[in-house]
Amino acid sequence: MDVRNCKKCGKLFNFNGDSLCPMCQKEMEDKFFEVRDYIYQNPSANMSMVAEENDVPIQQIKKWVRQERLIFSKDAGISIDCESCGRPILTGRYCKECKGKMTNKFTSMYQQNPVEQKDEKKSSKGKMRFLGN
Ligand SMILES: [Zn+2]
Ligand SMILES: [Zn+2]
Repeated sequence: MDVRNCKKCGKLFNFNGDSLCPMCQKEMEDKFFEVRDYIYQNPSANMSMVAEENDVPIQQIKKWVRQERLIFSKDAGISIDCESCGRPILTGRYCKECKGKMTNKFTSMYQQNPVEQKDEKKSSKGKMRFLGN
C-alpha cells in the first residue's frame, strides 16, 4: 500500500492519486462550493479577489477552472490559456477548436462527454465518491 504525507496537514494517508488526505480533500471540496457560490453572487469578481475573499490559493482556483468545475463569467475578465494554442478561454484546458481537433484524435482513448452534461456528471460523481469514503 502506498502511504504518503498530506500536502496540506502533513498527516499520513493511503495514497489515492491525490496529494491531500481525505479530510483535507473534503475541506477543499467544501471550499469549492463556497467559491462557486461566491462567483455566482459576485460575477464580476476577478481571480485574486475570489482567492482572497475565500482564502483559497489562486492555483487551486485555476485547477478547478481547468477541470471545468468553475466557470467565470465574461464580466470577470478572467481567462486562462488554451494549453494547446494559448488562446484565452474561460474554462477547461483547450479552446473549442483545439478540443474539436482532439476529440477527433482521442475519442477512442478518452470517452468524452458532451460539454453540457460534463459538469453535472462530474459533481454527482464527486459526491458519490465522498459518500463512498
Ligand atoms: Zn490533510
Ligand atoms: Zn486552442
